[in-house]
Amino acid sequence: MEALIWIGLTALAIALPFIYPRWRLRRALARPLPAEAEAVLQRNISVYRHMPAELQQQLRQLVVQFLHQKKFIGCAGLEVTDEMAVTIAGQACLLLLNRPSKVYPALHTILVYPSEFVAQRAEVGPGGVITPGRQSMLGESWDDGRVVLSWEDVRRGAGDWTDGHNVVLHEFAHQLDSESGRANGAPYLGDPASYADWSEVLSRHYDNLRMRAMYRMETVMDPYGATNPAEFFAVATETFFEKPYQMAEHHAELYAEFLKYYRVDPRQWMSPPPPPAPPQQPVSFAYGW
Ligand SMILES: [Zn+2]
Repeated sequence: MEALIWIGLTALAIALPFIYPRWRLRRALARPLPAEAEAVLQRNISVYRHMPAELQQQLRQLVVQFLHQKKFIGCAGLEVTDEMAVTIAGQACLLLLNRPSKVYPALHTILVYPSEFVAQRAEVGPGGVITPGRQSMLGESWDDGRVVLSWEDVRRGAGDWTDGHNVVLHEFAHQLDSESGRANGAPYLGDPASYADWSEVLSRHYDNLRMRAMYRMETVMDPYGATNPAEFFAVATETFFEKPYQMAEHHAELYAEFLKYYRVDPRQWMSPPPPPAPPQQPVSFAYGW
């Protein structure tokens, strides 16, 4: 009998580290997002107000899980408030709607600076010579489970949902991308048959962006996406959520691939942009002298 008790206690001790976090998560998910936190989503993420009720509900649930599982650390003297955490979580979780995936399973910490921060960067020069350097950054995504953000730019990105720039969407797209092994512009797509179309369409539009960036032609996407395939995926994600009409018009096949991947159509909660202003008629002056 005593032996059985010992076996039972040992089994419990082994299982507890696995059972306890799940129990805590279930308990956290059973509670709705507090009203003050939803007010932050309403106030700071303008598109939230226009989303269908069912997606709002999903987003609130994802935010609860995100806030429960991830740690926020303020840097350079910043104290991370609930408002900051909810504003970041709300935008990050937009990328997870309608998807069966977990909530950024590899991510554990979000570091938040008050504004742009300086990161150490090694520059690889001709002949492979590595020179240490410093670079000013709005955000960074690391595949060791960290995302670094500038709060000033988080707030600016959340406030303007039409300019195609959003540092949270950008950095969390990198997180999704790195879930497939390494960030290379090909996130985990589920069905292996999907990769051929994804690769063909993204490569073509990436090459097109590189060409247009090289000749300084007008682009729907930020030319920064021409840096490499990983940046292209992150920038295209920003464009998909912030300029869906323009992307669907100018990059229809790419938009179709992103519709399949993100499983939402942001046009559902956004109005089409106003038509471009007609060219100004030359003003003629009647000089009376
Ligand atoms: Zn990036």
